[in-house]
Amino acid sequence: MTKSATTLVAPDVPPMVNAHSHAFQRAMAGLAEKQEDPEDSFWTWRELMYRFAGQIGPDDLQAIAAQLYVELLKSGYTTVCEFHYLHHQPDGRPYDDPAEMSQALVRAAAEAGIRLVLLPTLYMTRGFDGGPLGDRQRRFGHGLDDYLDLVARLRQTSGVRVGMALHSLRAVPPEAMQALWAADLTGLGPIHIHIAEQTAEVDECLQRRGARPVAWLLDNAPVDTRWTLVHATHLSGDEIGRLARSGANVAICPSTDANLGDGLFPLPEYLAQNGAFSIGTDSHVSTSVVEELRWLEYGQRLRPPAPEHRRRCRVTPCRRAALPGRCRGWTDGCGRGTGRGCRSGRRRRRRIDRCQRRSMARCLRVRRKPQSGAGRSGGRPANHYRRASCRRSEDRKPLPHGAQAIVHDRLMPG
Ligand SMILES: [Zn+2]
Repeated sequence: MTKSATTLVAPDVPPMVNAHSHAFQRAMAGLAEKQEDPEDSFWTWRELMYRFAGQIGPDDLQAIAAQLYVELLKSGYTTVCEFHYLHHQPDGRPYDDPAEMSQALVRAAAEAGIRLVLLPTLYMTRGFDGGPLGDRQRRFGHGLDDYLDLVARLRQTSGVRVGMALHSLRAVPPEAMQALWAADLTGLGPIHIHIAEQTAEVDECLQRRGARPVAWLLDNAPVDTRWTLVHATHLSGDEIGRLARSGANVAICPSTDANLGDGLFPLPEYLAQNGAFSIGTDSHVSTSVVEELRWLEYGQRLRPPAPEHRRRCRVTPCRRAALPGRCRGWTDGCGRGTGRGCRSGRRRRRRIDRCQRRSMARCLRVRRKPQSGAGRSGGRPANHYRRASCRRSEDRKPLPHGAQAIVHDRLMPG
């Protein structure tokens, strides 16, 4: 550790994977907190987000992401899965280097010292009707060949794990999805997709495709342990069971789900089927692991009120999330092959679990005996804790330009 490093005093818990991030949205956190119209909803928030995204170039993205990633490290995340769809210039033309915006994220992660799982995102159509992207969506869009070229180029980048993301069922037509499965995806990282976040999306999918979104995906894509379904908030009982049995992971984003009024993920029912989940900060209205887990727990307690259900909720989600092996974010969460079907993965998970139980035990000991300075801590105060990831972030040189300055001085003048 260098002399300039800062030692943080904090509970000793295992580092977390942040399973869902749109880094640029950190710079607009708070801008949508004031109601402009009684009809404000996720869809009006999305319009604001489009306006904001339209002003961000590669340097802005690098600055915003670097600052965000340092915040995530300080909060306890050491890996971030970046669901990245801000690909082109604001008018939709590619940059001279089509991977320019992706590389800005790679540079930001290197600068901050966080492990990056980059998920270049395929975004082709404006909705289930298959219509062309609107003006504000053009910089997100790719044809299939261009997209596969981008993924192939990014896979040559050292120091970053590259997977793939489909923005949503709305944004990728069924034919394109089938063509994607025919491509050579050997060795590719995890596959992520936004799904069933809004009831309007469920209704439209039922109308256009004759099935609910998650059911449709399970019927039409090779969903397995490599997959992460982001949100998956609105599930039928049948979908809960099928999704859990598929081995896929669900990335729940409690603070963003609450901020946008998306709804509550049916966590107790999903856990009862042994479903895997992880945590993402999505739009980054919060970057705190603790706050995400608190929202997850309290949200479940507030679900409608069958007495028995409430009783179960009072003792389940957060504690289960904190139990090693239940929340995939504690272990892999980013598709590192620790699926239940993999024997070596199971061995690795058991090893990690043992290590994490010890860490959790230390954490609990700290809370019970805050004044203790002797014993296993070797004479240090029991809550004196050095978090390697934060140390690394503090070792870095200052950011070249601050995200706050970009937001307040240029992107949002006045
Ligand atoms: Zn998202």
